[in-house]
Amino acid sequence: MEALASFKKELSSPKKIFITTHVKPDADALGSSLGLANYLLKKGHEVTVVTPSDYPSFLAWMKGNDSVLDFSKSEDRALATLRLEEADVIFCLDFSVLGRVNELGELIRKSNAYVVNIDHHQDPEDFADFRYWSTKAAATCELVYELIVNELRDKDAIDKDIAECLYAGIMTDTGGFRHPNTTKNVHLVVAELIDKGADSSQISNWIYDSNSVNRLKFIGFAITRRLVVREDLHMAYFVISKKDLKKYQSQTGDTEGLVNYALSLDGIKLAALFSEREDGIKISFRSSSDVAVNKFAAAYFNGGGHKNAAGGKSTLGLKDTVDLFESLVEKCQDELFHSESMTAN
Ligand code: 5GP
Ligand code: MN
Repeated sequence: MEALASFKKELSSPKKIFITTHVKPDADALGSSLGLANYLLKKGHEVTVVTPSDYPSFLAWMKGNDSVLDFSKSEDRALATLRLEEADVIFCLDFSVLGRVNELGELIRKSNAYVVNIDHHQDPEDFADFRYWSTKAAATCELVYELIVNELRDKDAIDKDIAECLYAGIMTDTGGFRHPNTTKNVHLVVAELIDKGADSSQISNWIYDSNSVNRLKFIGFAITRRLVVREDLHMAYFVISKKDLKKYQSQTGDTEGLVNYALSLDGIKLAALFSEREDGIKISFRSSSDVAVNKFAAAYFNGGGHKNAAGGKSTLGLKDTVDLFESLVEKCQDELFHSESMTAN
């Protein structure tokens, strides 16, 4: 049976549905998960949303947030595991390699449930029974909207709660409608979501204007004390230690967006943020439209993502990671600035 037809058949009767997304969910990850969850609940399914980790408090306004289970919390893990075991259908949203969901990845791989992957990242792994995937989409939320409207022909079911969740993911994954992925279709979709009740100014207020004093002071500190600019290499980066994060009582989400300040500098085409976490160094890469950072992240830092926004990790120390990064950028000038030729090693 054709994949789309088999997917529609799966949802044609009430099912037990498990939805998950990538570790440290952002607005697109959580918004697509809860937007879809609210839709499927309306259609009479039993739905559980499970995240592999916690996520920023500025996303907690989304409808359904209170029922989300966090697999990294001991008090949620048993119920989340049970829900995964009993699931008829598993949705994997905003990621396309199972390594992005930590231990949940292996459980999904072994599951007999019907697995659906909705995503917009490059180089997807082949693990799903039905994949709704396009790198042309700015956000997974855009794809969830299209799946409901174009494939399931169910636009009328989109209400204010669903629209708000989906709007949030599109707004943040386009950097507030500024990145090169902000297409005509993005504007058409958000126009429809506004029509369904999403309040653009309210949502941007919830997400962008909910800083704590500590977070604002941390951003000031990072810009004045932790920014390295290498104009000769057209790059700038932040190096944030565990101690820095502790000093400013950093919460999940507090470093989000910081890397963009480095990219905002005139003449800078490549920006990075190195932050020292419990389990190693987390790296965020951003680039101007002519530089591809996802291939660089995949080739050298065990990561991936989109052409102009990618991430990776390192198990070296903070200083060694940064030294390696600098030497790689020096060495790879040609490939980085003409990234088609870069291959993973
Ligand atoms: P961020 O820097 O905001 O954490 O991530 C930027 C983009 O890169 C997001 O689309 C995210 O999903 C992707 N990304 C971040 N870290 C990783 C990683 O370790 N592996 C892969 N494959 N993608 C990542
Ligand atoms: Mn996304």
